[in-house]
Amino acid sequence: MITIWKTAREVTEGVAGLRAAGRTIGFVPTMGALHQGHLSLIEQALIHCNEVIVSIFVNPTQFNDKSDLKNYPRMPESDIAMLEHAGAGFVFIPSEQEIYPEPDNRVFDFGHLDKVMEGAHRPGHFNGVAQVVSRLFELVSPHKAFFGQKDFQQLAIIKQLVRMLNLNVEIIGCPIVREKDGLAMSSRNLLLDPDRRKAAPRIYATLCEARNKMDSTSVKELIGWVEMEINRDPLLKVEYFEIVDAETLLPVTDWDSVGSIVGCIAVWAGKIRLIDNITFK
Ligand code: AMP
Repeated sequence: MITIWKTAREVTEGVAGLRAAGRTIGFVPTMGALHQGHLSLIEQALIHCNEVIVSIFVNPTQFNDKSDLKNYPRMPESDIAMLEHAGAGFVFIPSEQEIYPEPDNRVFDFGHLDKVMEGAHRPGHFNGVAQVVSRLFELVSPHKAFFGQKDFQQLAIIKQLVRMLNLNVEIIGCPIVREKDGLAMSSRNLLLDPDRRKAAPRIYATLCEARNKMDSTSVKELIGWVEMEINRDPLLKVEYFEIVDAETLLPVTDWDSVGSIVGCIAVWAGKIRLIDNITFK
């Protein structure tokens, strides 16, 4: 049976017991509406750690768009059943009061990392992510925490947060899990209407084609091509596509300038915003 924790106190006491018994703790923070992408993180956590704690909390401070927060899918009962089936031992489902007993006014400075891409288009988003993740780390005090590469910039920011706060937790990035048609799994996919759901795989298909073209195309040309190719479908609208250094997230101008390069994209499908990324090298 999975153990359900609802309060900060239940978590800290439960975790203290596990740690005292010498158990290693793996942590998977989520906002629920769980899918195979989340489950892949749990699988990794089960491999690396003795105990796996999953949190489900739709964190208001990371939503810059009120209607996105309101419409975000919430299905705690079926999530818990999925977690139990996946083999997680503990789920933490706190109220807002448990996470933020007082308003969190902390402001984090991630330098360049949160000024670009998601950070530029979703003001305050990563500050909210840092607030909730640091608070969850404080309560759960995991040995390892698992995050998806689907949120590529978020992963870079969490690693930086851990360095900045000098936290004793290892951050493990896990590969993107996709639907059969290539669309990156996301809780927000549930909100797509059938036509936009049908159009959405074009995003990853175009990213794959872009990777095939990289040897014969400049970075700048490829950026233009990807935007044009996706926007050719009237149901999709690229918000940004950037080709960046995977470490610094700074834009690259040519393919040989740095060792690892990733292309990150955000696309509007109607009122739903989808993100994805692809490793170029
Ligand atoms: P979320 O519930 O969207 O906040 O996501 C919780 C965690 O699951 C984050 O670390 C995400 O990066 C990760 N995640 C979400 N979708 C996927 C996916 N398709 N593949 C891998 N990880 C994912």
